Amino acid sequence: MDAEYDAVVFDNDGVLTTPTDREVLVEAIHTAFETVGVTNPSDDHVRTLMGPSVDSLCILAETYDVDPQELWTAREHAAIEAQLEEIEAGRKRLYDDVASVATLKTATAIVSNNQHETIGNILEQYELDWIDAWYGREPTLKGIDRKKPTPYYLELALEALDTEDALFVGDSWVDIEAADTAGIDAAFLRRDHVEGVGLPREPTYEIESLESISGLL
Ligand SMILES: [Mg+2]
Repeated sequence: MDAEYDAVVFDNDGVLTTPTDREVLVEAIHTAFETVGVTNPSDDHVRTLMGPSVDSLCILAETYDVDPQELWTAREHAAIEAQLEEIEAGRKRLYDDVASVATLKTATAIVSNNQHETIGNILEQYELDWIDAWYGREPTLKGIDRKKPTPYYLELALEALDTEDALFVGDSWVDIEAADTAGIDAAFLRRDHVEGVGLPREPTYEIESLESISGLL
């Protein structure tokens, strides 16, 4: 806790940009099912495809007699397209306090459970050229397993930044968990959308705005 951090790693959704509207994602899931020839998926199956484990995805694919990778590719592609539309329309927007971390002297990275391509679209649209490294999930079944709380992408980011002591900033328990497993400190950003949300593990810090970050470094 008395560390002098030489790098700051940010989660994206709910930290740098507003989360994607749930209805937009639900619609993308329906598009994905249609792409693989399923026209009337149950609400339950829509929910499953929103955030599956590899096992539940395989069971789902078997139910509709489609290839799991094909179903997952369709799902990721639909989510990338739908979110790009939201980004370009300004509905998935940067939080105002991002300006306060754009000039940090430390190295910076993004580690997100969103698609790698979606993070790329965000960097491009909002010109986040101060971000040194970024990792989203790959559009493969491996990408599902490598999501936080698994520290896979976080560890890649730490390696890329060549950091001695990094701080991870997130708005979910998965961020706190991944940071802990990777052996680094975590700041939980409690924005309005996570008001009252409990955490299974105490973060190193709890902050209400990204404006607090520079004071922690
Ligand atoms: Mg988040």
